[in-house]
Amino acid sequence: MKTDIHAHVGNYNAKGFFVSSLQGDRFNGKGVSPLIDVPNLLKDVRNSDMDKVVALAFDKPYDDKGVHYYVPNQYVVDLSKKHEEILAGISINPERPDAIDELEKYKNDAVLVKWSPGVMRFNPADKKHAKFYQKLAESGLPVLTHSGGESNIVYGGVKGLIRPHNLRSALDQGVKVIAAHCGAPEYFEEFLEMVIGRDNFYGDLSAMARKRRRGFLEKLAKMEEIHGKLLQGSDYPLPPENGVELIIQRDYEIKREMGFPESIATKFDDVGKNESR
Ligand SMILES: [Zn+2]
Repeated sequence: MKTDIHAHVGNYNAKGFFVSSLQGDRFNGKGVSPLIDVPNLLKDVRNSDMDKVVALAFDKPYDDKGVHYYVPNQYVVDLSKKHEEILAGISINPERPDAIDELEKYKNDAVLVKWSPGVMRFNPADKKHAKFYQKLAESGLPVLTHSGGESNIVYGGVKGLIRPHNLRSALDQGVKVIAAHCGAPEYFEEFLEMVIGRDNFYGDLSAMARKRRRGFLEKLAKMEEIHGKLLQGSDYPLPPENGVELIIQRDYEIKREMGFPESIATKFDDVGKNESR
């Protein structure tokens, strides 16, 4: 099965969906792109080689410094039950007081857990998350975590939290971790060191065909020895190039044209949740 593991979804009318006015300004001053609405995402995936797309929830920071973007877990789980092309990527900030309960509630409906430590303002290296990591490892769900691009698109982020090195304690506890954007640009070297040295650490190629990460994608295309640890993600609705109509398909084609194997699209079959656990 071919899966694009990284797509954003949302709708201002969806229950709990939230975008602050500051954040709306950052999205080109127009609020979130209409492309992230479900009919558009479905159209894009149906016109691609992909069988499935992982639609991502997005948890919030659990401090008193404000929330700018939030996509609830129930929303993506409901979508995955309604549309066979959609898989649910839930999002759980380990600092939420009911993190373990939230994982128990959704673990059978989800295929991965999405983090963005900078904008969710938590440090994955914090020892207090050990109990949650144990439950996460037991669940078999991999974590997909933003790992490069400090000045990322969501407002209110804290620098340094997205470093791949911060993921070592989760990896030591047996959690499977997929580093979105392979650490590029800032932490690409750190990503490479870890993806070579750690069995349960992977990279997703999302948003890497875009201008600021294209050079890193070209480097990865030549590193055949790690192609088996890379997974396809587009970062829909971000287009890989200007003027692209079918984002999910074109993003995949660019990578295939560069020499990445088809396994980037099928790898999630074995990195994803193992049903036998
Ligand atoms: Zn993304």
